[in-house]
Amino acid sequence: MDDHVESRGEARYRTFFESAPVGIWDEDFSGVKEFLADLLASGPDSVRQHLESNPDVLAEAIRRIRVRHVNRVAREFYGADSEEHLIRGLPKLFDSAAAEVFIDEIAAFAGGASMFSAELGAFTLNGDRKLVQMNVSILPTEGDDWSQVVVTFTDLTERKKLEQSLQRANEMLQRVNSDLEQFAYAAAHDLREPLRTIALYTQLLQKLEIEKLGPPAQTALAYILQNAARMETLVGDLLRFAQTIEPQDLTLCPVIDSNAIADEVIASIAGAIAQAGARVTITQNLPAVAVQAGHMRQLFQNLLANAVKYRSPDRIAEVCVTGIERDRETMFCVSDNGIGIRPEYSNRIFGIFKRLHNTEIQGNGIGLALCKKIVEQYGGRIWVESEIDAGSRFYFTIPRTVIDR
Ligand code: ADP
Repeated sequence: MDDHVESRGEARYRTFFESAPVGIWDEDFSGVKEFLADLLASGPDSVRQHLESNPDVLAEAIRRIRVRHVNRVAREFYGADSEEHLIRGLPKLFDSAAAEVFIDEIAAFAGGASMFSAELGAFTLNGDRKLVQMNVSILPTEGDDWSQVVVTFTDLTERKKLEQSLQRANEMLQRVNSDLEQFAYAAAHDLREPLRTIALYTQLLQKLEIEKLGPPAQTALAYILQNAARMETLVGDLLRFAQTIEPQDLTLCPVIDSNAIADEVIASIAGAIAQAGARVTITQNLPAVAVQAGHMRQLFQNLLANAVKYRSPDRIAEVCVTGIERDRETMFCVSDNGIGIRPEYSNRIFGIFKRLHNTEIQGNGIGLALCKKIVEQYGGRIWVESEIDAGSRFYFTIPRTVIDR
């Protein structure tokens, strides 16, 4: 270290340097610059090629880097007791792949760049393996001699580990999901045939033997047919559920007009609305969203049909559709003043074939499961807020940008 009396500017810099929250190396690359000038004068026109094919030349270039100071974060990160300890241990700090990063760095500077960034593997003095993000800047000096170089680095090890385990978990989830989809599809598909055969032969039996059969047998046959039809619907729903995925298509959906879709859906269930004497309103201009139109139709269709279906017998059904744009997502709400849902069931109803009203109101318990599946494919959420005998508000969100998905 120099003996000269430190100026206030230098003292301020030193305090900043020492207490910075990232690791900093203060280095002098002027030796490297001279070395490169000699090298280029002696022949090779590609510094990169020369460094790549001559490890000794690369080693010499690296040796010419003079580390002046390292700050506290850098010492702690590398497990060094002191600045000298860390500088002495320098050759041990980099893994074999780091040579390529140094070649990139030196070639970039030789080509006129004054900044360089890279991720590289590093070892601490205790031998722990780390991954760091390194940024190197040549500060302007008189004579442009590369004597002031600042290397900052941040530890990426934990973040990388987390990213990797997240990616592994995601891949596993996708595999399991796709296995399940295939299973549901195959099961539903294969169940259809025997089911149709049962229905067919039962009908045949009914037709041929109806005279000979007594009322109990006739009731039994009618019952078989009724249940076969119900099972056919369930199996069809299961197939529909298994087929409602095309994740690869979802990132590039065109932006669609939600108002037009809502109007279309209201028109398509106009019969049920009129029969229920319900009032359905869209209170404000619904925001546009980047979703496949068919998916948006299914969402509105299921939620609106439910809002009308699960109305209270005590009052005129009022159903309302709203939508707002929030920071990163668009949120829609379908609210009603119907029979409501007990809070303990507010998650359960989104499960496949889960119903709270088994006999008195018709349905298969698949509508909300489909809504959940659609919304989650886009990275959105769906939930309900409800009060028994007062009404329900079903919310769903769609992320606003493709990047969020
Ligand atoms: P389905 O209506 O065919 O039974 P859904 O999956 O659409 O199937 O709904 C699941 C269950 O959630 C319904 O059986 C009903 O009990 C409850 N539910 C759905 N929407 C409403 C609503 N707007 N008000 C009250 N209960 C509802």
